[in-house]
Amino acid sequence: MWDSKTFAHGSPASLTSKLVQRTVPEGEAASHVWLASLPIAAAIYRVDISGVKRIATNPNFDNIGLTRAARAGLDLGYFNDLILDMAANDRDSHFDCWRSDDRIQPLELEISVACFGASKDHYLVSLVDRTADAVNKINLRREMMSDSLTGFSNRIGFEERVEDAVSMLRSSNPDGRFALVVFDLARFSRINESVGVLAGDELIITVARRLSSRLRSNEIIGRMGGDEFALFAAIDGGQAVASVAQRIARAFDDPCKLSDLEIKIDCAVAAAEGIASADDPMDVLRHAHIALKKAKQTKRFELFVSESLNRAKHRFSLETDLRHALARNELELHYQPLIDLDTGRLNGFEALARWNHQDHGYVSPLDFIPVAEESGLIVPLGRWALSEAARTIANWERELGSELPTKISVNLSAVQLLRDDVPAAVADALGSAGICGSRLTLELTESAFVDDPVGARRVLEALKGLNTHLAMDDFGTGYSNLAYLQKLPIDVLKIDRSFIADMTANSDNKAIVSTILSLASALGMKTTAEGIESAEISSALRELGCTNGQGYYFARPLNADAAYAFLKDSAVTTA
Ligand code: C2E
Ligand code: MG
Ligand code: MG
Repeated sequence: MWDSKTFAHGSPASLTSKLVQRTVPEGEAASHVWLASLPIAAAIYRVDISGVKRIATNPNFDNIGLTRAARAGLDLGYFNDLILDMAANDRDSHFDCWRSDDRIQPLELEISVACFGASKDHYLVSLVDRTADAVNKINLRREMMSDSLTGFSNRIGFEERVEDAVSMLRSSNPDGRFALVVFDLARFSRINESVGVLAGDELIITVARRLSSRLRSNEIIGRMGGDEFALFAAIDGGQAVASVAQRIARAFDDPCKLSDLEIKIDCAVAAAEGIASADDPMDVLRHAHIALKKAKQTKRFELFVSESLNRAKHRFSLETDLRHALARNELELHYQPLIDLDTGRLNGFEALARWNHQDHGYVSPLDFIPVAEESGLIVPLGRWALSEAARTIANWERELGSELPTKISVNLSAVQLLRDDVPAAVADALGSAGICGSRLTLELTESAFVDDPVGARRVLEALKGLNTHLAMDDFGTGYSNLAYLQKLPIDVLKIDRSFIADMTANSDNKAIVSTILSLASALGMKTTAEGIESAEISSALRELGCTNGQGYYFARPLNADAAYAFLKDSAVTTA
């Protein structure tokens, strides 16, 4: 292993330079004599037209370089290549460090090479064995990191090893879970007081031996303090942290024998769990300690589950449940009326997905749509919404006996546009329901255009080719890029609820709404204001020239039967 490091004073670097400043003898025999007089391992190499040749070595070099280093894996051809490179680049000196990979018989060499001679074709290679320093450093570090009584890592060593293990897990499996389990021996100080410190030490050694016998190969154990141990374990798939803690804690089941005493050790056990990509292992260790405090009181195993893990678990179970709900057709579409602000007449419905979870009750689309987008379930969900809305239109038209006077809007997610052939999905839905495209409005958000504006535009044109209307949803919250807005075949701008809710009190929002309305009018688009909750807002929008309104003031999203009744009734009045 090579290291380009700075050499200490008195290293071969300075020594070699000094040596070559002296007159170095020419000729092999004289070189041997001169090298033999040197205090360090050295060899002379010469470069000529045929390449690099080692012309003389001293016994030290034979021993360190040619024998020990070569055996430990140093490729001696390295010196030839290096010297050729120095000659080609006109470099006079080079310093390096080489370390063997062998942990049992380590070897660390400082290498220096310097060019000398009138024609600069000779090179003095010298080696200094730094193994003893390196081994000392390793030993010192090991001592600093380990507990002398048990041989386990001490707190510093344990924390460092855990940080390393989590960063490895993070790169191999970012979703990988890990646990930190902490064990605290109860009554240990009293045992120490009554049987003496030496016996106390013996007890700790016994416990440590038992703990090690229960470890799996990739687990890390440490002695964190007098009577506290900690364990790190990566958690497989559905494995429970409690089962890991239990396996280790069984070490305390049998009493420990101390000379003629039998001591039953009680132990408080607690753990915390984290996810490699989301949690700092030191935070998780802190959480395990919080749980340990509780475990000391409750005398039971306590588990602290981090927020991010809770969220991830929740998300994961939501994904599984959503997959089942889709398969069992448990989602519903509700329809929120869109009202013509001028006439007060019904002008359409927006179809909104509703999920009544069998355990958790109503789950908001704001929670499950992002999960569907992340998991790919948005493709079947999006197809389901399209065909369900198309089927509803067909049913209503059949019951009315005439063409529906309004359109139904269906939301399309940006992820759905990327992952599915949306025009084909729309054509399928229209075909199966036997209705024409002019009955549907498709709502897209600006995010659909960010990553691939050209592709998105192609999709919009294909959708226009099916005669559908297109609406830009939540306008004003995204990028609001007017350049592409102008180029896209959009029929309606839907102004986001965040500008509407307080527009009569907030003059900035009122100015934004009025600007969006002028923009839409200049581009020949209709407008819908979302989230109208009062008569005051409704009339303010009407005065500003907004086409349609949607909001609780007119109606909440209604199930299909209630929406049909609303449609039949259709006598809504604006303020
Ligand atoms: P959106 O498309 O902007 O839908 C309008 C949201 O505003 C709906 O929320 C609606 O219930 C809510 N809303 C309407 N009027 C009012 C009001 O006066 N006050 C308040 N506070 N809220 C009002 P919802 O149903 O929770 O849906 C949230 C979002 O989830 C939708 O925003 C849409 O982006 C998405 N979503 C819903 N269903 C689907 C679907 O079938 N497919 C896709 N891709 N996204 C959907
Ligand atoms: Mg919408
Ligand atoms: Mg919206």
